[in-house]
Amino acid sequence: MNRLSSISIGLLFLALTACGQKEDVAEAPAPAADGGSPRAVEISGGNPAAEEAARQITGDYMRGIVAEISDDRYEGRGPGSRGDAMARAYLIEELKKLGLEPGAADGSWEQKFELVGVNASQPDTWTFEGEDGSLTLEQWEQFIVGSGVQEERAGFEDAEVVFVGYGIQAPEYDWDDYKGADLEGKVLLMMNNDPDWDPELFAGETRLWYGRWDYKYLSAASQGAVGAIIIHTSPSAGYPFQVVQTSWTGVQFELPAGDEPRSQINAWVTEDAARELVAMAGLDLDELREAAYNRDFEPVPLGITTSIAMDVDIERVESANILGLIPGSDPVLADEAVIYTAHHDHLGIGTPNDEGDAIYNGAMDNATGVAIVMAIAKAIKALPQAPRRSVLVALVGAEEQGLLGSEYYAANPTFAPGKIAANLNYDGGNIWGHTHDVTFVGLGKSTIDEIVTLVAEEQGRVVKPDQFSDKGYFYRSDQFSFAKIGVPAMYLDTGTDFVDRPPEWGREQQDHFTEVNYHQPTDEYDPSWNFDGMVSDALLGYWTGLAIANAAEKPTWNPGDEFEAARIEALKAVEE
Ligand SMILES: [Zn+2]
Repeated sequence: MNRLSSISIGLLFLALTACGQKEDVAEAPAPAADGGSPRAVEISGGNPAAEEAARQITGDYMRGIVAEISDDRYEGRGPGSRGDAMARAYLIEELKKLGLEPGAADGSWEQKFELVGVNASQPDTWTFEGEDGSLTLEQWEQFIVGSGVQEERAGFEDAEVVFVGYGIQAPEYDWDDYKGADLEGKVLLMMNNDPDWDPELFAGETRLWYGRWDYKYLSAASQGAVGAIIIHTSPSAGYPFQVVQTSWTGVQFELPAGDEPRSQINAWVTEDAARELVAMAGLDLDELREAAYNRDFEPVPLGITTSIAMDVDIERVESANILGLIPGSDPVLADEAVIYTAHHDHLGIGTPNDEGDAIYNGAMDNATGVAIVMAIAKAIKALPQAPRRSVLVALVGAEEQGLLGSEYYAANPTFAPGKIAANLNYDGGNIWGHTHDVTFVGLGKSTIDEIVTLVAEEQGRVVKPDQFSDKGYFYRSDQFSFAKIGVPAMYLDTGTDFVDRPPEWGREQQDHFTEVNYHQPTDEYDPSWNFDGMVSDALLGYWTGLAIANAAEKPTWNPGDEFEAARIEALKAVEE
């Protein structure tokens, strides 16, 4: 029997007990004392002790943490800054108060990591040479280029440009845009996104990792390419070129380079610039793209060469993931863990707004997520007996710089990836009150779905998928770092259907927040924030985490999921 069906049976049983009213609980079979079967999965009402501990999750507790670390004194918690160190010290004290144990490998609370700030001096223009002429593109208006290497100089001379379609190699979809072509030393011109016209292929309109720039640059580098150029279109990126302009200039933080393949440069061009470029080769961009919408596509050398050279400033700073542990109570399963994550960093001090405020407090993003995870930890610590598997609270750093703290953890995990049962992430809490729904980013990908849906049902709520799946939110917070090493992972986000409010009200609040406060100095704590919905979302994560920590089997990715292969490998590695 495969894992999937045995879990389903356990959960089916749960569904029956969980639907009962609380008064019926006495008649329900008591959970096995040793928690020996999936039936012992904790669902509200089925376990009075867990119900009692859940009361530790309060709005007041979370409010205190949010107000504290989003205060101006913490200076926006920019990685490596004074405020970052202050916030880490405060959070460690709080974890100590809760009675957690230090969770880092050396017995400390912090898993320190170095960040490398890479700041390339982008050239004003970039010239491409064809057989009968040349094309010069303007920086900012037509292209943006970053250094792919952490060295003082990045670039290449006379490299040939090859159009490679999506630049995707995905054996599970029988898709390979490279077809064994020799791309060593070439510059790869590639389309953004992934094939999205067929729901059977690359999850249809839902953007997979294959559709994101980080995959594409890595894919080009692993072919030995010296550069990669992504063709920007707003639909395929999910944002306008302006976002490329602002996010790819200035210092880019990265983890120190390891042995992963790297190209010299990673660039973006506008669609119009790409059109001009391929026209120089006598080709039509639309026709090239048409050809690339096909498994049979083969790379197209454009007969165009280009050179580029940039000076690169390198700086190094240090930050840390804070790791707090609740050791599991089962002698066999305690070496496995459920990991809760929330990033503690934000943008620090930056460009002042019109009011002269330069502190990017990050109250919603992500003091609220930190507070939720702390509250869950408080409740789990209040249980008379710890869950069977260990619970790790990972307040990770440098998320805003590209999920760097969680990526570092994933590369240096304190539990082997095959021993990590699941990752539950929070990035932004609900500050507007009770909802009838909750957003589950990653719904449809793993067996965690069933548990969350059941618990939410018990709360009288419905689970909704990411409402903006084409934007690829699954790949934009820390759960993604865990998914990449195979760990079934998800992120619980604010619902949109608020109790006693008109249907469109929730969306209006969130859109307004995104427009006015998101990544701005005005993301500040306001005492009028309503923490009721955040309590529900924290309870949902608490019960879900307990269910996973106590179940006989770990969750699995759904068959064929993009991360299933990584999981199989991770599980194999711990079997040996
Ligand atoms: Zn965030």
